[in-house]
Amino acid sequence: MLEVDLLIVGAGPAGLYGAYYAGFRRMSTAVVDALPEPGGQVTALYPEKTIFDVAGFPAIRGRDLVGNLLDQAAPFHPRYILGEVASELTTRPDGSLVVRTDAGTTVHTQAVIITGGIGEFRPRPLPDGDAWLGRGLSYFVPRLAEHTDLDVLIVGGGDSAFDWALHLQPLARSVTVVHRRDRFRAHEHTVSQVSDLGVPILTFTEVADLRGADRLEQVLLRHSRTGEERLLPAQSVIAALGFTADLGPLAGWGLTVSKRHVPVDRRMATNLPRVYAAGDIADYAGKVRLISVGFGEVALAVNNAAVAINPDTHLFPGHSSDPH
Ligand SMILES: Cc1cc2nc3c(=O)[nH]c(=O)nc-3n(C[C@H](O)[C@H](O)[C@H](O)COP(=O)(O)OP(=O)(O)OC[C@H]3O[C@@H](n4cnc5c(N)ncnc54)[C@H](O)[C@@H]3O)c2cc1C
Repeated sequence: MLEVDLLIVGAGPAGLYGAYYAGFRRMSTAVVDALPEPGGQVTALYPEKTIFDVAGFPAIRGRDLVGNLLDQAAPFHPRYILGEVASELTTRPDGSLVVRTDAGTTVHTQAVIITGGIGEFRPRPLPDGDAWLGRGLSYFVPRLAEHTDLDVLIVGGGDSAFDWALHLQPLARSVTVVHRRDRFRAHEHTVSQVSDLGVPILTFTEVADLRGADRLEQVLLRHSRTGEERLLPAQSVIAALGFTADLGPLAGWGLTVSKRHVPVDRRMATNLPRVYAAGDIADYAGKVRLISVGFGEVALAVNNAAVAINPDTHLFPGHSSDPH
């Protein structure tokens, strides 16, 4: 069983900053997330977009903000448990907590901060694709360079699909976008940019089969109206089919949940002892759901959790700029 002072549920911006803050307070930390990559909504929905309202950064790309948050927390060695859903919470007689994941990982912790956003994120799977995961099929593009000189097929019509097409086109041997409709959720401007780059955009087209030996080599595409099939070389297929979000497992913890959010008091405490919430999931009168707000909330939550764990410690952590 993993032993930590603090378990953070959700590796979005609030959870990642919480990992730094807990380290600054000398607490050992684990961060669990259903997604295989950290960054929450930023990584899943808009890694290539520029964010203009994070304090201290006049403009920062989503992916770079996540990278910076990981770097900031790294000196404190938080333990990341990715691709697992925090599914059960039990309280021990001494007030400490045990959280179990759907993969069977068990974490014994003195406090929990829930930074679960709108619930556990799961990529919508490519039908019959799972056997190819890690062998050419992916749901994310954490590092663009991994696609250098590959024939890349991107499936989907949303912002992520077109953002990735835009950024991979200069690196990849070829990029093709396929979408089962002829309308796109992606921003019109991005669709035009991709089209202007000469990236083929195949509409009314679906992936019928993924083919290869150890790794992916070819993709069979089928036109949904004519039934016409064609085989394309593809060593990489990126399925950008969107995400589902489910608050389900957290709702079973005995937490008060109101309209898919968790009410908190001014210490960011939930109705459960030693369980705090911050970021998009936390709710109170006047709440605004923004990254900058989540950063402040999670700092509050960590400091209050530190006092709940050890009543002799100070609520105010000191200044990070002081020698320590
Ligand atoms: C397209 C778009 C553009 C945006 N632009 C901006 C912007 O410019 N500026 C701004 O301030 N905000 C912006 N936002 C909003 C911002 O992204 C959110 O406010 C922010 O991501 C919330 O951070 P969070 O850490 O609270 O939660 P999230 O980013 O939602 O992360 C929560 C994480 O918790 C995980 N999780 C939940 N439950 C569980 C569980 N039981 N077990 C394991 N993991 C779990 C989820 O998988 C998820 O990864 C934008 C949002 C979108 C969709």
